[in-house]
Amino acid sequence: MKRHDVVVVGGGPAGLAVAIAAAQRGLDTVVLERSSTPVDKACGEGLMPSGLAALERLGALAHLDRRESSPFVGIRYVQEDGTTAEGKLPAPGGLGVRRLALSTALVTRAREVGVDLREYSQVVAHQRTDEGVMLETPTGAVQARFLVAADGLASPLRRAEGLDVALDGPRRFGLRRHFRCVPWTPYVEVHFASGVEAYVTPAGAERVGIAFLWEAGTVAERVGFEALLAHFPRLAEKLAGVEPDSQVRGAGPLARVARTRVADRFALVGDAAGYVDAVTGEGLTLAFACAESLGALLPDALAKGAGRDTLMPYERTFQRVFRKYSWTTHGLLMLARRPRLRRPVVRLLGHSPWLFERILAAVVT
Ligand SMILES: Cc1cc2nc3c(=O)[nH]c(=O)nc-3n(C[C@H](O)[C@H](O)[C@H](O)COP(=O)(O)OP(=O)(O)OC[C@H]3O[C@@H](n4cnc5c(N)ncnc54)[C@H](O)[C@@H]3O)c2cc1C
Repeated sequence: MKRHDVVVVGGGPAGLAVAIAAAQRGLDTVVLERSSTPVDKACGEGLMPSGLAALERLGALAHLDRRESSPFVGIRYVQEDGTTAEGKLPAPGGLGVRRLALSTALVTRAREVGVDLREYSQVVAHQRTDEGVMLETPTGAVQARFLVAADGLASPLRRAEGLDVALDGPRRFGLRRHFRCVPWTPYVEVHFASGVEAYVTPAGAERVGIAFLWEAGTVAERVGFEALLAHFPRLAEKLAGVEPDSQVRGAGPLARVARTRVADRFALVGDAAGYVDAVTGEGLTLAFACAESLGALLPDALAKGAGRDTLMPYERTFQRVFRKYSWTTHGLLMLARRPRLRRPVVRLLGHSPWLFERILAAVVT
């Protein structure tokens, strides 16, 4: 049986980005995705400036159908009483991009650089061999010298490798749906209510994405889109009579922790590597940063046997970018959970856009 250099499990943004980065460096790379492409997913679909730059470096931005995306200039917080704070992102700003279009662009680029992308290839078991890894899929076995697990939040591979850390904190969930209307703002809007936030992202010339994030206990764990929308009367009014443009999709619990990202001939990337929350809209950007770092390291690591030690530069990059994301996310969650603290803070940011912009620049660069 042919042995590939790298097998990536999961054809989401993280998996495709690692595969592109590895194939660009001459590695024989196969991606196993359980569904068909393009892959849709519950997501706020806001890409931050550094995520956009990574997409360009990977060569995928040129394949993005711009009609399925909308540039946004910054972030606007909207409170229950209508008070707002607006901050611009550093140039060139962000991009709201429909997940189907993002997936198409990454798939096109992956195939262009020679990645062997196999759809309907759910990995049902894996085992270590002397020279790498053997994976079982319904369409046959796949062998490779290195395994990248990019299999999302619930990551069966993270669990199978014994790297899952059980969490007992509050459980947060997400839900999203698109609506067919001209975006009413060039900002990503974050609307706050008690126990739930709503994200409004322009994602096409005539499309707006609405994503809700909420905490079980404050709002029921299994709650519908309409019930969540009812927490935001201003938003509900704007969307009254507007035709939906997608099915409702959900995800969660959002917070996930892995003991480490690396083991011999193995690495975790994307949500599988660890996740805090979607409240800052950085999951894709984080995934691309880590995918680029891992992809760049793989040729050298493989030449040295791809033991855990050879992968530590990737673990260190992950720690660095994740730490910043984690602090920011926990900070914003702390504010979101305490309306009496959040209201004056957002009012202050509203009066001092320069301060908001400095904070945003520090977070996203
Ligand atoms: C409500 C919500 C809003 C969000 N908003 C934003 C935002 O605005 N901006 C942002 O940057 N991020 C946002 N995120 C986060 C972002 O969606 C994720 O960080 C991103 O999707 C991570 O990509 P991934 O490739 O790691 O995982 P995924 O996109 O989940 O991809 C994992 C892939 O693995 C496949 N898979 C799983 N198991 C197997 C298996 N055994 N065999 C084969 N294939 C398998 C799945 O089918 C899937 O395609 C949001 C998330 C949520 C839930």
